[in-house]
Amino acid sequence: MLTKEELLSYIENEKHAIFQRGEDFFQCAELGFSEVETAKKITALLEEWGVSYQKEVAVTGIIATLGTGDGYHIAFAADIDALPKKGGSGNIHSCGHSIQTTMALSVLKALLDSGIMEYTDCKVSFFFTPAEEYIDFSYRDGLIAEGKIEFRSGKQNMIALGCFDGADCVLSAHANGDVGTKFDVGSTLAGFMAKKAVFVGRAAHSGVAPHLGRNTLHGAMLAMNAISFLKDQFDPERGLRLNPVLTQGGGSVNVIPDETVLETYVRANDNETLFEACRRVDACLEHCARALELQCFITDTAGYLPLKQSKKLNQTVKKNMLLFCKAEEIVENPVSGASGDVGDLGVLIPTIQFGFSGIKGRFHDDSFEISDYENCYVTSGKVMLGTIYDLLMEKSYRVYPEEFEQRKKEYLCRLRKKD
Ligand SMILES: [Zn+2]
Ligand SMILES: [Zn+2]
Repeated sequence: MLTKEELLSYIENEKHAIFQRGEDFFQCAELGFSEVETAKKITALLEEWGVSYQKEVAVTGIIATLGTGDGYHIAFAADIDALPKKGGSGNIHSCGHSIQTTMALSVLKALLDSGIMEYTDCKVSFFFTPAEEYIDFSYRDGLIAEGKIEFRSGKQNMIALGCFDGADCVLSAHANGDVGTKFDVGSTLAGFMAKKAVFVGRAAHSGVAPHLGRNTLHGAMLAMNAISFLKDQFDPERGLRLNPVLTQGGGSVNVIPDETVLETYVRANDNETLFEACRRVDACLEHCARALELQCFITDTAGYLPLKQSKKLNQTVKKNMLLFCKAEEIVENPVSGASGDVGDLGVLIPTIQFGFSGIKGRFHDDSFEISDYENCYVTSGKVMLGTIYDLLMEKSYRVYPEEFEQRKKEYLCRLRKKD
C-alpha cells in the first residue's frame, strides 16, 4: 500500500510542470461565468489524462470524479474566476483563484498517477467552480433573465443543480495576505445579505398642502434611526455591520416625496446573527413605514453565508501543515471580513478552507503578485493531498453531513424567497 510520503512525491516530482501550469492559468484571467478559455484549458488536461468530466455546469463549471465506489465522498472546490483590472482594460487573478485551479489539477493528477483510488471504495470529486467574486451584476442578472443560471454565484447554482448532493465533505484553500507565516486554519468569513427597501407614500404640494401627502423620506429617516439603534442590541463579537444609504430620496423641493429607496448590506460573522439581523431590520423598515402610513416593499438579494468550518476536518489539515512548517507559522482561527460562497457550502456539508501565504501586493488590486511559488503551488498542494490521504485511509478522520436534504431545502427556500 502506498504511503503518504509516496503519494506526496507525485506533487514534488511534477513541480516544474505545476509552476508552468500555474503561470498559464494566472495569465488566463476571466470574469465569472465567462471563464471559457480557463475551462478549455482544464478540460484539455483532463482529456490528456483520460479523466471523464462534466462541463458547462452553471455555464462554465466543470466536475471530474476519481473513484467509483460508494464509500466516503470528498469534494474539492476550486474557484476559477478573476477580477477586472483597476487600471485599463482586461482582467487579473487578483484573488489568486488560478492557484486553486492549479492546485486542484495537481492533486487530481497525483491521485490518478499513484493509482491510490483503486485501493479504496471512496470518491474524490473536483469542482472547478465559476463566479465566486460577487461582481458584474448586470451580466449575471442578464444570465438569470435568460434562464442560464438561477443565482449570481457559481457555488450557489451548483448547489441548486444538485452537484454537491452526496458529497460528505468539502475541502478548499485560498491565498491569504499574511506575511511571515505559511498557512492559516479555521478562518471565519463574514456573510452578507443585500437589502433594498422602497418606501411608497403620497405626493402633495409641500407649500400648499403638505398634510395631504405621506412623506417617504420621513419614513426612511425614521427607519435609519431604528436600524442604527438596533446595532446596540447585538454583541459586537457577532460582527454585525449595518450601514444603510439612501439611493433615492425626493425629486423637487416643492413636492412631498412619494418614493424613497433605502439600501443596506447586512453583514455578520455567523448565520444566526445574519438571519436574526435580517429579520430585525425588516421589522424596523416595516414598522417605521406603518407608523407614518407609508408602504414599504423589501427585496433581499442573497449574498454569501458566513463560513463555519469543520473543526474536526481542520485538525487533520493542521496535522498535515505541521509536516511542512512550524506551529508558529500557522495562524489559527483568524477573523476575516472577507466573504466567499464557500460559506454557503459550509451550512450544508462539513467544509474547510485553509489559507496559504506567498502573495505580494494587495488582494483585488493590480499589485497582486505570486511571490512564493513553492508555498502556493507545492506545499499547499501537499497539505491538501495529505489531508485527502488521511480521509481515504483512516475512517476516524471522516465527518459526515447532517440533515443535508432538510438544510438544502431551507437554504434554497431562503435564497429564492424574495429574489
Ligand atoms: Zn476575492
Ligand atoms: Zn477569492
